[in-house]
Amino acid sequence: MNLSHLAEDEASQRLALMDVEKYGWSKVVVQGGREDPYYSYVPLVSPTSDLKVKLEVEGRLQPLFNGGHITLIPVNGRSGRALLRQTRSLSSEFKLRFFAYDQPLTYCSSCGKTFPGLKAKCPRCGSIKVEAYARQSARYLPVKWWSHQGKLKALKEG
Ligand SMILES: [Zn+2]
Repeated sequence: MNLSHLAEDEASQRLALMDVEKYGWSKVVVQGGREDPYYSYVPLVSPTSDLKVKLEVEGRLQPLFNGGHITLIPVNGRSGRALLRQTRSLSSEFKLRFFAYDQPLTYCSSCGKTFPGLKAKCPRCGSIKVEAYARQSARYLPVKWWSHQGKLKALKEG
């Protein structure tokens, strides 16, 4: 039997709403607040946790998910060198087998360049023909496609 930890945004919202309905707000802990409640989607550890704690916990849990699991690691403006050091330690120190760096991106169709972060216009050519991408679950999708309002709000705040 293969145990997997898969991302499912719709189930995350639906289960949170069902639990709130059944048990009430005082007993249910969700992300997204009362307007857009949801449970975690990809992360096993809360995105607000310390990164080292997150990597230690996920490194211990990943071997249990022989059917699949991905650890998303926020870039948070770190340099290429810092990410290289991080990448080396992910397998040696934390025993992570499957991971990806996570960062919202903006693509400019006028100059064909991609930039980190969510931009309203191109930082290079000033065009407003830009498209924002971010991971909804494990996949990068255009932000305009997102239907998950709680996660969209968290993305824009973060
Ligand atoms: Zn441009």
